[in-house]
Amino acid sequence: MKRPKTINEVRKLPIRDPGTAARIKAVAERYPFLSNDYYLSLVDWDDPDDPIRRIVVPHPEEFFGAGDMDPSREKDYTVAPGLQHKYRQTALLLVTSACAGLCRYCFRKRLFLKEGGKRPRYTLSSLPRAARYLREHEEITSVLVTGGDPLTLSTKTLDRIISTLDGIPHIRTIRIGTKVPAYNPFRILRDPELPEMIRRYSRKDRRLYVVTHFLHPRELTPPALEALDLLSSAGALLANQTPLIRGVNDHPDVLEELFRALAAAGDPPYYVFQCRPTRGNAIYAVPIEEGIRIFYTAQGRCTGLASRVRYVMSHAKGKLEILGKHQGRVLFRYHRAANPAHQGRIISYPSNPDAYWLEDFIHPRGADSSGGRRHGLGAG
Ligand code: SF4
Repeated sequence: MKRPKTINEVRKLPIRDPGTAARIKAVAERYPFLSNDYYLSLVDWDDPDDPIRRIVVPHPEEFFGAGDMDPSREKDYTVAPGLQHKYRQTALLLVTSACAGLCRYCFRKRLFLKEGGKRPRYTLSSLPRAARYLREHEEITSVLVTGGDPLTLSTKTLDRIISTLDGIPHIRTIRIGTKVPAYNPFRILRDPELPEMIRRYSRKDRRLYVVTHFLHPRELTPPALEALDLLSSAGALLANQTPLIRGVNDHPDVLEELFRALAAAGDPPYYVFQCRPTRGNAIYAVPIEEGIRIFYTAQGRCTGLASRVRYVMSHAKGKLEILGKHQGRVLFRYHRAANPAHQGRIISYPSNPDAYWLEDFIHPRGADSSGGRRHGLGAG
C-alpha cells in the first residue's frame, strides 16, 4: 500500500444516510475527526456499530453526558509546558499535540481543541528547559514520551528528544507511547531511520520501550504486525495499553482475543484503562462494576504474559488498580500514588453499578444536588 492518505472531512466517509451524516458533521465541528484511508479500510461500513468505526468516526451522542477537559487533573502536576511530574520516579513529556488519527474517547482532547477561538499550548515548548528539570531531579528514573503521538514527529526530531533523555544518567527507562502502529503502520515500515534510532538507544542495559495502543483484535492487521516486528527487531521492548470502550472491546471474548493476539505478537497487554470522564466520552464509557466483570472474565481465560495485564483508573490521586468486588464493596489499590503516603493502600466503597469514576462511589447518585454526575460520566 502507498503512504496512507489523510482523511479529515466526514463528507468523504461512505455514510449513506444523510441525517446521520449531518449529525456526524456537527459533532466533528466540536470534536474534530482525523483518520486515513488505510485505517478506514478496516471499517465494515454496512455495520453502523462496527468497532473500528466507533474508535475513530464521530458519533452523534458525543454531545451528551457530563465530563471535564482534564479529568485526571494533569495541570496540577505540570511543572513546565509539556512536562508532568506526578509520581516521584516518573515524568511525562508531551512532545506533540498531533496524532495519526483522533480517537473519539481521547482523554487529552484539550490538546487539539480550540478554546475561545485559540488553541492553548499544552505540549513541550523548550526541550532544554525540560531537560534541566529532569537533570535536577535525580529521583526521576523513568520518562514517558507521549502527546499526542510522538511517532507523528519526524525521526530526526524524535531522535533529538530521545538522545537528550539518554544523556541523563539517572533516567533508566524511556517509554514512547504511540497509536501509530494501529493507525498508520506504514509510518514505521517506510522509515529506515526509525529502526536505526531505536538500535542506537535500546541497549543491553537500557532498553527503549514502545507502548502501543491497540484496542481491538482487528487493528492487528498484517502491516501492523510487521511494524511491531520491525520495532522489536530493532531492540525495542513492546507493551500495550488499551482503554475499555463501549462498543469496541466491552465484551470478554473481544478482550480475551486482544490479550492473546497481543501476547502472541510480542506486544503483551500491560494496562486496561477505565475510560476517563473527558467531555464527549460518556457514550464510550463502561461502568466500573461492569468493567470488572468483563476484564476479569477475559483475563482469567488467558495465561502467561497475556494474563499479566491490570485494570486501572488514572485518577488525579494516582493510578488505582481496580481489584474487583468483594462482599458488596468495590476494591481499589494505589498502584501509583500522587501522595507517597498512599502508595500500596487499598481502599473500598459500597457497590454502585452506575459508577464510572472514583467520585461516583464517594458521592453516589442522589447524594448531592448534581445527582452523582458531577465528576463521573453519568448514564447518558
Ligand atoms: S492517539 Fe492518544 S492522544 Fe491521540 S487521539 Fe488517540 S488517545 Fe488521544
